[in-house]
Amino acid sequence: MPSSPPVITRFAPSPTGHLHIGGARTALFCWAYAKRHNGSFLLRIEDTDQKRSSEAASRGILEDLAWLGIDWDEGPVFKRENADGTVNTPPTTLGGNPREIGSFYQSERRDIYDTYINWLVERDLAYPAFDTPEELTVRRQLAEKEKRTFVYRRAADYNRDAVLSRMNAGEPCPIRFKMPGTPISFTDEVLGEITVSADELDDFVIRKADGFPTYHFAVVIDDELMGTTHIMRGQEHLNNTPRHIALMKALVNQTTNQPFRIPKFAHLTVIANQDNSKMSKRDRDKAARAKCRELNIKAVTDVSAKAGTKPLPHFDALPPGDFEQWLGDKTRQLETHALEDLATAIGVELPEIAVDDFRRSGYLPEAVLNYIALLGWNPGEKGPDGKDLERFDTAYLVEKFSFDRVGKSASKFDRAKLIAFNQDAIAKLTDDQFLSRWEIWATRDDRETLGRVGVSRLRLVVGAIKGRCRTLKDVRSLVSFAMIDDGAYAFNAKDVEKHLKADDGAGFETLRALAPKLQALPAFDVASIDALLDAHATQTGLGMGKIAQPLRVAVTGAAVSPPLGATLAILGRDSSLARIRRCIDAQA
Ligand code: GLU
Repeated sequence: MPSSPPVITRFAPSPTGHLHIGGARTALFCWAYAKRHNGSFLLRIEDTDQKRSSEAASRGILEDLAWLGIDWDEGPVFKRENADGTVNTPPTTLGGNPREIGSFYQSERRDIYDTYINWLVERDLAYPAFDTPEELTVRRQLAEKEKRTFVYRRAADYNRDAVLSRMNAGEPCPIRFKMPGTPISFTDEVLGEITVSADELDDFVIRKADGFPTYHFAVVIDDELMGTTHIMRGQEHLNNTPRHIALMKALVNQTTNQPFRIPKFAHLTVIANQDNSKMSKRDRDKAARAKCRELNIKAVTDVSAKAGTKPLPHFDALPPGDFEQWLGDKTRQLETHALEDLATAIGVELPEIAVDDFRRSGYLPEAVLNYIALLGWNPGEKGPDGKDLERFDTAYLVEKFSFDRVGKSASKFDRAKLIAFNQDAIAKLTDDQFLSRWEIWATRDDRETLGRVGVSRLRLVVGAIKGRCRTLKDVRSLVSFAMIDDGAYAFNAKDVEKHLKADDGAGFETLRALAPKLQALPAFDVASIDALLDAHATQTGLGMGKIAQPLRVAVTGAAVSPPLGATLAILGRDSSLARIRRCIDAQA
Protein backbone atom coordinates (compact mmCIF):
# COMPACT_ATOMS: atom_id res chain seq x y z
CA MET A 1 0.00 0.00 0.00
CA PRO A 2 1.41 3.42 -0.86
CA SER A 3 2.16 5.44 2.24
CA SER A 4 -0.05 8.50 2.62
CA PRO A 5 1.57 11.82 1.73
CA PRO A 6 2.71 14.06 4.57
CA VAL A 7 0.03 16.30 5.97
CA ILE A 8 0.13 19.77 4.48
CA THR A 9 -2.27 22.38 5.76
CA ARG A 10 -2.40 25.93 4.62
CA PHE A 11 -3.74 29.26 5.73
CA ALA A 12 -4.67 31.43 2.79
CA PRO A 13 -5.75 34.91 3.84
CA SER A 14 -6.85 37.62 1.44
CA PRO A 15 -4.86 40.72 2.39
CA THR A 16 -7.71 43.18 2.72
CA GLY A 17 -6.99 44.28 6.28
CA HIS A 18 -5.57 43.05 9.55
CA LEU A 19 -6.08 39.44 10.52
CA HIS A 20 -9.59 38.88 11.92
CA ILE A 21 -9.72 36.88 15.13
CA GLY A 22 -11.68 34.18 13.25
CA GLY A 23 -8.88 33.96 10.69
CA ALA A 24 -6.41 33.55 13.53
CA ARG A 25 -8.48 30.65 14.88
CA THR A 26 -8.44 29.01 11.42
CA ALA A 27 -4.68 29.52 11.19
CA LEU A 28 -4.18 28.07 14.67
CA PHE A 29 -6.18 24.93 13.89
CA CYS A 30 -4.33 24.44 10.57
CA TRP A 31 -1.03 24.93 12.37
CA ALA A 32 -1.92 22.55 15.20
CA TYR A 33 -3.16 19.87 12.82
CA ALA A 34 0.04 20.01 10.77
CA LYS A 35 2.21 19.85 13.89
CA ARG A 36 0.14 17.03 15.34
CA HIS A 37 0.83 14.94 12.24
CA ASN A 38 4.45 16.02 11.73
CA GLY A 39 3.39 17.74 8.56
CA SER A 40 3.92 21.26 7.37
CA PHE A 41 1.90 24.40 7.65
CA LEU A 42 1.96 26.67 4.65
CA LEU A 43 1.01 30.30 4.29
CA ARG A 44 -0.27 31.70 1.02
CA ILE A 45 -1.42 35.23 0.30
CA GLU A 46 -4.54 35.31 -1.87
CA ASP A 47 -4.20 38.72 -3.46
CA THR A 48 -5.92 38.27 -6.80
CA ASP A 49 -8.57 40.84 -5.96
CA GLN A 50 -6.50 43.81 -7.04
CA LYS A 51 -8.91 46.43 -5.77
CA ARG A 52 -9.17 45.10 -2.25
CA SER A 53 -5.68 43.73 -1.61
CA SER A 54 -2.71 45.68 -0.37
CA GLU A 55 0.93 45.12 0.37
CA ALA A 56 0.51 46.74 3.78
CA ALA A 57 -2.28 44.32 4.69
CA SER A 58 -0.13 41.34 3.64
CA ARG A 59 2.68 42.56 5.83
CA GLY A 60 0.23 43.18 8.68
CA ILE A 61 -1.09 39.61 8.49
CA LEU A 62 2.44 38.18 8.61
CA GLU A 63 3.13 40.34 11.66
CA ASP A 64 -0.10 39.28 13.35
CA LEU A 65 0.67 35.59 12.85
CA ALA A 66 4.27 36.03 14.01
CA TRP A 67 3.07 37.91 17.09
CA LEU A 68 0.73 35.07 17.95
CA GLY A 69 3.58 32.60 17.49
CA ILE A 70 1.86 30.77 14.64
CA ASP A 71 4.95 30.09 12.57
CA TRP A 72 4.73 28.79 9.03
CA ASP A 73 7.06 26.20 7.55
CA GLU A 74 6.58 27.39 3.99
CA GLY A 75 5.43 30.76 2.78
CA PRO A 76 6.56 34.36 2.46
CA VAL A 77 9.83 35.05 4.21
CA PHE A 78 9.38 37.14 7.31
CA LYS A 79 12.03 38.46 9.63
CA ARG A 80 10.85 39.01 13.14
CA GLU A 81 11.64 42.54 14.17
CA ASN A 82 12.10 43.96 17.62
CA ALA A 83 9.86 46.72 18.83
CA ASP A 84 12.50 49.30 17.93
CA GLY A 85 12.59 48.10 14.34
CA THR A 86 15.89 46.20 14.62
CA VAL A 87 16.01 42.59 13.50
CA ASN A 88 16.90 39.95 16.08
CA THR A 89 20.39 38.52 15.88
CA PRO A 90 20.42 35.81 14.79
CA PRO A 91 17.28 36.77 12.91
CA THR A 92 14.23 34.62 13.53
CA THR A 93 13.12 33.98 10.01
CA LEU A 94 9.80 32.39 9.20
CA GLY A 95 8.73 30.86 5.92
CA GLY A 96 10.84 29.97 2.94
CA ASN A 97 10.37 27.83 -0.12
CA PRO A 98 12.17 24.47 0.34
CA ARG A 99 10.13 22.67 -2.34
CA GLU A 100 10.49 25.56 -4.80
CA ILE A 101 6.79 25.68 -5.49
CA GLY A 102 6.80 29.23 -6.77
CA SER A 103 5.59 32.43 -5.19
CA PHE A 104 3.25 32.34 -2.21
CA TYR A 105 1.57 35.49 -3.51
CA GLN A 106 -1.15 34.54 -5.95
CA SER A 107 -0.74 37.78 -7.89
CA GLU A 108 2.70 36.47 -8.89
CA ARG A 109 1.38 33.13 -10.16
CA ARG A 110 -0.76 34.33 -13.04
CA ASP A 111 1.21 32.41 -15.71
CA ILE A 112 0.46 29.17 -13.89
CA TYR A 113 -3.26 29.92 -13.72
CA ASP A 114 -3.30 30.90 -17.39
CA THR A 115 -1.73 27.59 -18.40
CA TYR A 116 -4.52 25.70 -16.65
CA ILE A 117 -7.22 28.00 -17.96
CA ASN A 118 -6.01 27.52 -21.52
CA TRP A 119 -5.98 23.78 -20.96
CA LEU A 120 -9.62 23.89 -19.84
CA VAL A 121 -10.70 26.19 -22.67
CA GLU A 122 -8.99 23.98 -25.29
CA ARG A 123 -11.07 21.06 -24.05
CA ASP A 124 -14.27 23.13 -23.88
CA LEU A 125 -14.38 22.55 -20.12
CA ALA A 126 -14.26 26.32 -19.70
CA TYR A 127 -15.30 29.04 -22.10
CA PRO A 128 -15.15 32.78 -22.71
CA ALA A 129 -18.42 34.55 -22.00
CA PHE A 130 -19.16 37.87 -23.62
CA ASP A 131 -22.49 38.68 -21.97
CA THR A 132 -22.97 42.37 -21.39
CA PRO A 133 -24.07 43.47 -17.92
CA GLU A 134 -27.45 44.38 -19.49
CA GLU A 135 -27.93 40.87 -20.84
CA LEU A 136 -27.11 39.40 -17.47
CA THR A 137 -29.59 41.74 -15.80
CA VAL A 138 -32.35 40.62 -18.18
CA ARG A 139 -31.64 36.97 -17.40
CA ARG A 140 -31.56 37.68 -13.68
CA GLN A 141 -34.87 39.53 -13.83
CA LEU A 142 -36.47 36.73 -15.78
CA ALA A 143 -35.41 34.25 -13.12
CA GLU A 144 -36.82 36.50 -10.45
CA LYS A 145 -40.14 36.73 -12.30
CA GLU A 146 -40.28 32.97 -12.55
CA LYS A 147 -39.41 32.75 -8.84
CA ARG A 148 -36.23 30.72 -9.32
CA THR A 149 -32.64 31.50 -8.36
CA PHE A 150 -30.59 32.77 -11.24
CA VAL A 151 -28.00 30.17 -12.13
CA TYR A 152 -25.73 31.06 -15.03
CA ARG A 153 -25.57 28.46 -17.79
CA ARG A 154 -24.10 28.59 -21.24
CA ALA A 155 -26.77 29.67 -23.72
CA ALA A 156 -28.14 26.95 -26.02
CA ASP A 157 -27.14 28.91 -29.12
CA TYR A 158 -23.58 29.50 -27.86
CA ASN A 159 -21.19 29.75 -30.81
CA ARG A 160 -17.85 28.46 -29.61
CA ASP A 161 -15.84 29.39 -32.70
CA ALA A 162 -17.15 32.92 -32.66
CA VAL A 163 -16.35 33.55 -28.98
CA LEU A 164 -12.94 31.93 -29.25
CA SER A 165 -11.97 34.16 -32.14
CA ARG A 166 -13.13 37.23 -30.22
CA MET A 167 -11.05 36.09 -27.26
CA ASN A 168 -8.03 35.32 -29.44
CA ALA A 169 -8.33 38.77 -30.99
CA GLY A 170 -7.70 40.15 -27.50
CA GLU A 171 -11.20 41.27 -26.54
CA PRO A 172 -11.35 41.21 -22.72
CA CYS A 173 -13.91 38.81 -21.30
CA PRO A 174 -14.43 36.58 -18.30
CA ILE A 175 -13.83 32.85 -18.61
CA ARG A 176 -16.43 30.57 -17.06
CA PHE A 177 -16.10 26.98 -15.96
CA LYS A 178 -18.63 24.65 -17.50
CA MET A 179 -20.29 22.83 -14.65
CA PRO A 180 -20.66 19.14 -15.39
CA GLY A 181 -24.37 19.11 -14.52
CA THR A 182 -24.09 16.39 -11.87
CA PRO A 183 -24.62 16.72 -8.13
CA ILE A 184 -21.48 17.10 -6.03
CA SER A 185 -20.98 15.32 -2.70
CA PHE A 186 -18.21 15.34 -0.19
CA THR A 187 -17.63 14.44 3.44
CA ASP A 188 -16.72 17.39 5.58
CA GLU A 189 -14.55 16.41 8.53
CA VAL A 190 -16.70 18.56 10.82
CA LEU A 191 -20.11 18.77 9.18
CA GLY A 192 -20.37 15.28 7.69
CA GLU A 193 -21.98 14.44 4.34
CA ILE A 194 -22.74 17.39 2.09
CA THR A 195 -24.48 17.09 -1.27
CA VAL A 196 -25.31 19.97 -3.58
CA SER A 197 -27.62 19.38 -6.52
CA ALA A 198 -26.53 20.25 -10.04
CA ASP A 199 -29.19 22.92 -10.53
CA GLU A 200 -27.69 25.02 -7.71
CA LEU A 201 -24.30 25.16 -9.36
CA ASP A 202 -23.69 27.79 -12.00
CA ASP A 203 -21.02 28.07 -14.66
CA PHE A 204 -18.94 30.34 -12.45
CA VAL A 205 -16.24 32.77 -13.51
CA ILE A 206 -12.69 31.45 -13.18
CA ARG A 207 -10.86 34.35 -14.78
CA LYS A 208 -12.14 37.89 -14.68
CA ALA A 209 -12.10 40.25 -17.65
CA ASP A 210 -9.09 41.99 -16.08
CA GLY A 211 -7.07 38.80 -16.61
CA PHE A 212 -6.84 37.86 -12.92
CA PRO A 213 -8.13 34.47 -11.82
CA THR A 214 -10.98 34.40 -9.35
CA TYR A 215 -10.47 33.08 -5.85
CA HIS A 216 -12.24 29.83 -6.83
CA PHE A 217 -9.73 29.06 -9.52
CA ALA A 218 -6.49 30.15 -7.91
CA VAL A 219 -7.30 28.32 -4.68
CA VAL A 220 -7.87 25.02 -6.50
CA ILE A 221 -4.71 25.27 -8.59
CA ASP A 222 -2.56 26.22 -5.63
CA ASP A 223 -3.92 23.61 -3.27
CA GLU A 224 -3.00 21.00 -5.88
CA LEU A 225 0.42 22.36 -6.74
CA MET A 226 1.32 23.11 -3.14
CA GLY A 227 0.24 19.63 -2.04
CA THR A 228 -2.47 20.67 0.45
CA THR A 229 -3.91 17.55 2.05
CA HIS A 230 -6.34 19.23 4.48
CA ILE A 231 -8.26 22.41 3.82
CA MET A 232 -9.59 24.09 6.94
CA ARG A 233 -11.46 27.33 6.51
CA GLY A 234 -14.46 29.30 7.71
CA GLN A 235 -17.99 28.09 7.09
CA GLU A 236 -18.62 31.04 4.80
CA HIS A 237 -16.70 29.02 2.20
CA LEU A 238 -18.89 25.92 2.49
CA ASN A 239 -20.92 26.88 -0.60
CA ASN A 240 -17.73 27.32 -2.60
CA THR A 241 -16.42 23.84 -1.92
CA PRO A 242 -18.66 21.96 -4.43
CA ARG A 243 -17.48 24.34 -7.14
CA HIS A 244 -13.88 23.70 -6.18
CA ILE A 245 -14.43 19.95 -6.21
CA ALA A 246 -15.97 20.15 -9.69
CA LEU A 247 -12.87 21.99 -10.87
CA MET A 248 -10.56 19.48 -9.20
CA LYS A 249 -12.38 16.66 -10.98
CA ALA A 250 -11.93 18.35 -14.34
CA LEU A 251 -8.25 19.20 -14.00
CA VAL A 252 -5.05 17.27 -14.59
CA ASN A 253 -1.76 18.22 -12.96
CA GLN A 254 0.48 19.34 -15.83
CA THR A 255 3.65 18.19 -14.12
CA THR A 256 2.63 14.73 -12.94
CA ASN A 257 -0.06 14.12 -15.56
CA GLN A 258 -2.28 12.83 -12.74
CA PRO A 259 -5.81 14.05 -12.02
CA PHE A 260 -6.02 16.65 -9.26
CA ARG A 261 -6.26 15.15 -5.77
CA ILE A 262 -9.34 15.96 -3.67
CA PRO A 263 -8.08 17.11 -0.26
CA LYS A 264 -10.03 16.66 2.94
CA PHE A 265 -12.20 19.59 3.99
CA ALA A 266 -13.12 20.95 7.41
CA HIS A 267 -15.32 24.01 7.65
CA LEU A 268 -15.13 25.87 10.94
CA THR A 269 -17.98 27.58 12.71
CA VAL A 270 -18.74 31.25 12.60
CA ILE A 271 -17.56 33.32 15.57
CA ALA A 272 -20.46 35.28 17.01
CA ASN A 273 -20.94 38.13 19.44
CA GLN A 274 -22.96 37.55 22.59
CA ASP A 275 -26.08 38.75 20.74
CA ASN A 276 -25.48 36.09 18.05
CA SER A 277 -24.51 38.58 15.38
CA LYS A 278 -21.40 37.68 13.40
CA MET A 279 -18.29 39.16 14.95
CA SER A 280 -17.16 41.61 12.32
CA LYS A 281 -14.99 44.63 11.78
CA ARG A 282 -18.20 46.61 11.33
CA ASP A 283 -18.90 46.18 15.05
CA ARG A 284 -16.30 48.88 15.66
CA ASP A 285 -18.16 51.35 13.48
CA LYS A 286 -21.39 50.28 15.13
CA ALA A 287 -20.03 51.09 18.60
CA ALA A 288 -18.82 54.51 17.49
CA ARG A 289 -22.10 55.27 15.72
CA ALA A 290 -24.08 54.35 18.85
CA LYS A 291 -21.95 56.70 20.95
CA CYS A 292 -22.49 59.51 18.41
CA ARG A 293 -26.22 58.96 18.70
CA GLU A 294 -26.00 59.04 22.50
CA LEU A 295 -24.07 62.31 22.36
CA ASN A 296 -26.44 63.71 19.75
CA ILE A 297 -23.65 64.17 17.22
CA LYS A 298 -25.17 64.85 13.84
CA ALA A 299 -22.38 66.48 11.88
CA VAL A 300 -18.63 66.70 11.73
CA THR A 301 -18.73 70.06 13.51
CA ASP A 302 -20.37 68.43 16.55
CA VAL A 303 -17.34 66.14 16.82
CA SER A 304 -14.83 68.97 16.69
CA ALA A 305 -16.82 70.72 19.40
CA LYS A 306 -16.61 67.58 21.57
CA ALA A 307 -12.93 67.06 20.83
CA GLY A 308 -12.12 70.58 22.01
CA THR A 309 -8.84 71.83 20.61
CA LYS A 310 -7.25 68.40 20.27
CA PRO A 311 -6.23 67.73 16.68
CA LEU A 312 -7.70 64.62 15.10
CA PRO A 313 -5.33 64.15 12.17
CA HIS A 314 -6.91 61.17 10.47
CA PHE A 315 -10.47 62.09 11.22
CA ASP A 316 -9.97 65.65 10.04
CA ALA A 317 -8.51 64.32 6.80
CA LEU A 318 -11.77 62.60 5.85
CA PRO A 319 -13.31 63.91 2.62
CA PRO A 320 -16.16 66.37 3.26
CA GLY A 321 -19.49 64.67 3.85
CA ASP A 322 -17.93 61.27 4.54
CA PHE A 323 -18.62 61.38 8.24
CA GLU A 324 -22.26 62.40 7.79
CA GLN A 325 -22.80 59.61 5.26
CA TRP A 326 -21.17 57.11 7.60
CA LEU A 327 -23.46 58.26 10.43
CA GLY A 328 -26.54 57.47 8.40
CA ASP A 329 -25.42 54.26 6.69
CA LYS A 330 -24.68 51.22 8.78
CA THR A 331 -23.00 49.40 5.91
CA ARG A 332 -20.23 51.99 5.70
CA GLN A 333 -16.92 51.80 7.53
CA LEU A 334 -14.63 54.67 8.39
CA GLU A 335 -10.95 54.33 7.63
CA THR A 336 -9.27 52.60 10.63
CA HIS A 337 -7.25 55.53 11.98
CA ALA A 338 -10.05 58.02 11.43
CA LEU A 339 -12.38 55.76 13.40
CA GLU A 340 -9.84 55.54 16.20
CA ASP A 341 -9.41 59.31 16.31
CA LEU A 342 -13.15 59.66 16.53
CA ALA A 343 -13.41 57.04 19.29
CA THR A 344 -10.81 58.85 21.40
CA ALA A 345 -12.55 62.18 20.85
CA ILE A 346 -15.99 60.96 21.88
CA GLY A 347 -14.73 58.62 24.58
CA VAL A 348 -15.84 55.23 23.36
CA GLU A 349 -13.92 51.95 23.57
CA LEU A 350 -14.04 50.13 20.24
CA PRO A 351 -14.50 46.37 20.54
CA GLU A 352 -11.42 44.42 19.49
CA ILE A 353 -12.03 42.33 16.38
CA ALA A 354 -8.71 41.91 14.60
CA VAL A 355 -5.66 40.29 16.18
CA ASP A 356 -3.92 43.63 16.04
CA ASP A 357 -6.76 45.25 18.03
CA PHE A 358 -6.15 42.74 20.82
CA ARG A 359 -2.41 43.27 20.67
CA ARG A 360 -2.81 47.02 20.92
CA SER A 361 -5.20 46.64 23.84
CA GLY A 362 -2.47 44.85 25.76
CA TYR A 363 -3.45 41.19 25.46
CA LEU A 364 -0.73 38.55 25.57
CA PRO A 365 -0.50 36.21 22.58
CA GLU A 366 -0.54 33.09 24.76
CA ALA A 367 -3.85 34.16 26.32
CA VAL A 368 -5.37 34.97 22.93
CA LEU A 369 -4.24 31.63 21.51
CA ASN A 370 -5.55 29.67 24.48
CA TYR A 371 -8.88 31.46 24.27
CA ILE A 372 -9.39 31.15 20.50
CA ALA A 373 -8.45 27.47 20.60
CA LEU A 374 -11.67 27.01 22.59
CA LEU A 375 -13.80 28.69 19.95
CA GLY A 376 -15.34 25.63 18.41
CA TRP A 377 -12.98 23.07 19.89
CA ASN A 378 -12.33 21.63 23.34
CA PRO A 379 -10.00 18.91 24.54
CA GLY A 380 -12.79 16.99 26.29
CA GLU A 381 -10.75 16.55 29.46
CA LYS A 382 -11.26 17.56 33.05
CA GLY A 383 -8.73 19.63 34.90
CA PRO A 384 -7.49 18.91 38.45
CA ASP A 385 -10.48 20.90 39.78
CA GLY A 386 -12.93 18.50 38.10
CA LYS A 387 -14.11 21.19 35.68
CA ASP A 388 -13.63 21.18 31.88
CA LEU A 389 -9.96 21.75 31.18
CA GLU A 390 -9.66 25.11 29.51
CA ARG A 391 -6.24 26.47 30.32
CA PHE A 392 -3.48 25.04 28.18
CA ASP A 393 -0.59 26.00 25.98
CA THR A 394 -0.03 25.33 22.30
CA ALA A 395 2.03 22.21 23.01
CA TYR A 396 -1.04 20.71 24.66
CA LEU A 397 -3.24 21.84 21.76
CA VAL A 398 -0.91 20.14 19.28
CA GLU A 399 -1.00 16.95 21.31
CA LYS A 400 -4.78 16.86 21.52
CA PHE A 401 -6.12 18.54 18.39
CA SER A 402 -8.44 16.46 16.22
CA PHE A 403 -11.46 17.18 14.01
CA ASP A 404 -13.80 15.01 16.04
CA ARG A 405 -13.84 17.57 18.82
CA VAL A 406 -14.54 20.53 16.52
CA GLY A 407 -18.11 21.75 17.02
CA LYS A 408 -20.76 22.44 14.43
CA SER A 409 -22.54 25.40 15.94
CA ALA A 410 -21.48 29.03 16.15
CA SER A 411 -18.98 29.86 18.88
CA LYS A 412 -19.72 32.85 21.06
CA PHE A 413 -16.93 35.24 21.81
CA ASP A 414 -16.85 35.89 25.55
CA ARG A 415 -14.77 38.98 26.24
CA ALA A 416 -14.93 38.59 30.02
CA LYS A 417 -13.48 35.10 29.72
CA LEU A 418 -10.66 36.31 27.50
CA ILE A 419 -9.84 39.03 30.03
CA ALA A 420 -9.70 36.41 32.78
CA PHE A 421 -7.34 34.31 30.64
CA ASN A 422 -5.20 37.37 30.01
CA GLN A 423 -5.06 38.40 33.65
CA ASP A 424 -3.91 34.91 34.57
CA ALA A 425 -1.32 34.88 31.81
CA ILE A 426 0.06 38.19 33.08
CA ALA A 427 0.14 36.95 36.67
CA LYS A 428 2.18 33.93 35.54
CA LEU A 429 4.98 36.07 34.09
CA THR A 430 8.07 36.66 36.17
CA ASP A 431 8.67 40.30 37.02
CA ASP A 432 11.39 40.51 34.39
CA GLN A 433 9.21 38.92 31.75
CA PHE A 434 6.39 41.28 32.61
CA LEU A 435 8.65 44.32 32.31
CA SER A 436 10.11 43.26 29.01
CA ARG A 437 6.68 42.39 27.55
CA TRP A 438 5.35 45.72 28.72
CA GLU A 439 8.32 47.60 27.29
CA ILE A 440 7.89 45.99 23.87
CA TRP A 441 4.19 46.74 23.94
CA ALA A 442 4.56 50.29 25.25
CA THR A 443 7.20 51.13 22.67
CA ARG A 444 4.44 50.88 20.09
CA ASP A 445 1.32 51.55 22.04
CA ASP A 446 1.93 53.63 25.14
CA ARG A 447 4.95 55.82 24.55
CA GLU A 448 3.66 58.35 27.02
CA THR A 449 3.79 56.03 30.04
CA LEU A 450 7.07 54.60 28.80
CA GLY A 451 8.53 58.10 28.57
CA ARG A 452 7.15 59.50 31.81
CA VAL A 453 7.53 56.46 34.03
CA GLY A 454 9.91 54.16 32.19
CA VAL A 455 10.96 50.60 32.88
CA SER A 456 13.45 51.26 35.67
CA ARG A 457 10.86 53.05 37.82
CA LEU A 458 8.22 50.50 36.91
CA ARG A 459 10.60 47.83 38.17
CA LEU A 460 10.26 49.36 41.66
CA VAL A 461 6.56 48.60 41.74
CA VAL A 462 6.23 45.61 39.46
CA GLY A 463 5.45 43.23 42.29
CA ALA A 464 2.62 45.45 43.41
CA ILE A 465 0.97 46.11 40.06
CA LYS A 466 1.48 42.95 38.00
CA GLY A 467 -1.31 41.12 39.77
CA ARG A 468 -3.70 43.99 39.18
CA CYS A 469 -3.23 44.18 35.40
CA ARG A 470 -5.97 42.67 33.28
CA THR A 471 -4.09 43.83 30.21
CA LEU A 472 -0.72 45.53 29.69
CA LYS A 473 -2.68 48.70 29.06
CA ASP A 474 -3.74 48.77 32.72
CA VAL A 475 -0.21 49.75 33.77
CA ARG A 476 -1.03 53.26 32.65
CA SER A 477 -3.96 53.77 34.98
CA LEU A 478 -2.19 52.03 37.88
CA VAL A 479 0.73 54.44 37.70
CA SER A 480 -1.20 57.43 36.42
CA PHE A 481 -0.42 59.32 39.66
CA ALA A 482 3.26 59.21 38.67
CA MET A 483 2.61 60.64 35.23
CA ILE A 484 1.30 63.96 36.45
CA ASP A 485 3.67 66.78 37.38
CA ASP A 486 4.21 67.17 41.13
CA GLY A 487 2.21 70.37 41.22
CA ALA A 488 -0.61 69.32 38.93
CA TYR A 489 -2.70 66.58 40.53
CA ALA A 490 -5.94 67.42 42.28
CA PHE A 491 -6.80 66.52 45.87
CA ASN A 492 -9.96 64.58 46.54
CA ALA A 493 -11.75 66.77 49.08
CA LYS A 494 -13.42 63.87 50.88
CA ASP A 495 -10.14 61.99 51.26
CA VAL A 496 -8.38 65.13 52.51
CA GLU A 497 -11.13 65.59 55.09
CA LYS A 498 -11.11 61.98 56.25
CA HIS A 499 -7.40 61.19 56.27
CA LEU A 500 -5.71 64.54 56.89
CA LYS A 501 -8.00 67.05 58.53
CA ALA A 502 -9.92 64.72 60.86
CA ASP A 503 -8.83 64.50 64.54
CA ASP A 504 -7.48 68.03 64.53
CA GLY A 505 -5.27 67.45 61.53
CA ALA A 506 -3.63 64.26 62.84
CA GLY A 507 -2.82 63.26 59.27
CA PHE A 508 -0.87 66.47 58.70
CA GLU A 509 1.07 65.76 61.90
CA THR A 510 2.05 62.39 60.51
CA LEU A 511 3.20 64.00 57.25
CA ARG A 512 5.33 66.52 59.15
CA ALA A 513 6.89 63.78 61.23
CA LEU A 514 7.59 61.50 58.28
CA ALA A 515 9.02 64.05 55.84
CA PRO A 516 12.46 64.39 57.52
CA LYS A 517 12.67 60.62 58.02
CA LEU A 518 12.02 60.01 54.34
CA GLN A 519 14.54 62.71 53.51
CA ALA A 520 17.18 60.93 55.59
CA LEU A 521 16.48 57.39 54.38
CA PRO A 522 19.74 56.01 52.90
CA ALA A 523 18.07 54.07 50.07
CA PHE A 524 14.71 55.12 48.68
CA ASP A 525 13.45 51.69 47.68
CA VAL A 526 10.28 49.76 48.50
CA ALA A 527 11.84 47.65 51.29
CA SER A 528 13.51 50.61 53.03
CA ILE A 529 10.37 52.75 52.81
CA ASP A 530 8.20 49.92 54.17
CA ALA A 531 10.66 49.34 57.03
CA LEU A 532 10.64 53.04 57.86
CA LEU A 533 6.84 53.17 57.96
CA ASP A 534 6.71 50.04 60.16
CA ALA A 535 9.21 51.54 62.54
CA HIS A 536 7.23 54.78 62.65
CA ALA A 537 4.06 52.83 63.44
CA THR A 538 5.76 50.99 66.29
CA GLN A 539 7.29 54.15 67.62
CA THR A 540 4.09 56.20 67.60
CA GLY A 541 1.65 53.41 68.35
CA LEU A 542 -0.42 54.50 65.33
CA GLY A 543 -2.08 51.83 63.16
CA MET A 544 -0.63 51.45 59.66
CA GLY A 545 -3.83 52.94 58.16
CA LYS A 546 -3.29 56.17 60.07
CA ILE A 547 0.16 56.43 58.55
CA ALA A 548 -0.37 55.12 55.05
CA GLN A 549 -3.58 56.92 54.13
CA PRO A 550 -2.43 60.49 54.89
CA LEU A 551 0.74 59.82 52.92
CA ARG A 552 -1.17 58.32 50.04
CA VAL A 553 -3.56 61.24 49.84
CA ALA A 554 -0.63 63.65 50.05
CA VAL A 555 1.36 62.15 47.19
CA THR A 556 -1.43 61.03 44.83
CA GLY A 557 -4.39 63.22 45.79
CA ALA A 558 -6.60 60.25 46.69
CA ALA A 559 -6.79 57.29 49.03
CA VAL A 560 -6.37 54.60 46.36
CA SER A 561 -3.01 53.69 44.86
CA PRO A 562 -0.67 50.69 44.70
CA PRO A 563 0.91 49.73 48.05
CA LEU A 564 2.51 52.73 49.66
CA GLY A 565 6.16 51.67 49.52
CA ALA A 566 5.72 51.11 45.79
CA THR A 567 3.86 54.38 45.32
CA LEU A 568 6.60 56.42 46.98
CA ALA A 569 9.40 54.46 45.32
CA ILE A 570 8.06 55.03 41.83
CA LEU A 571 7.72 58.74 42.53
CA GLY A 572 11.24 58.91 43.87
CA ARG A 573 12.50 60.83 46.88
CA ASP A 574 12.39 64.35 45.43
CA SER A 575 8.89 64.06 44.04
CA SER A 576 7.55 62.35 47.15
CA LEU A 577 8.88 65.12 49.39
CA ALA A 578 7.78 67.89 47.03
CA ARG A 579 4.29 66.40 47.01
CA ILE A 580 4.13 66.07 50.79
CA ARG A 581 5.20 69.71 51.12
CA ARG A 582 2.68 70.85 48.54
CA CYS A 583 -0.09 68.99 50.36
CA ILE A 584 0.77 70.55 53.71
CA ASP A 585 1.05 74.03 52.17
CA ALA A 586 -2.13 73.82 50.13
CA GLN A 587 -4.44 71.84 52.38
CA ALA A 588 -3.46 72.28 56.02
N1 GLU B 1 -8.65 33.79 0.71
C1 GLU B 1 -9.74 33.14 1.35
C2 GLU B 1 -10.20 33.97 2.53
O1 GLU B 1 -9.44 34.79 3.03
C3 GLU B 1 -9.28 31.78 1.82
C4 GLU B 1 -10.29 30.76 1.76
C5 GLU B 1 -9.68 29.38 1.81
O2 GLU B 1 -9.04 29.07 2.81
O3 GLU B 1 -9.84 28.66 0.86
O4 GLU B 1 -11.31 33.84 2.97
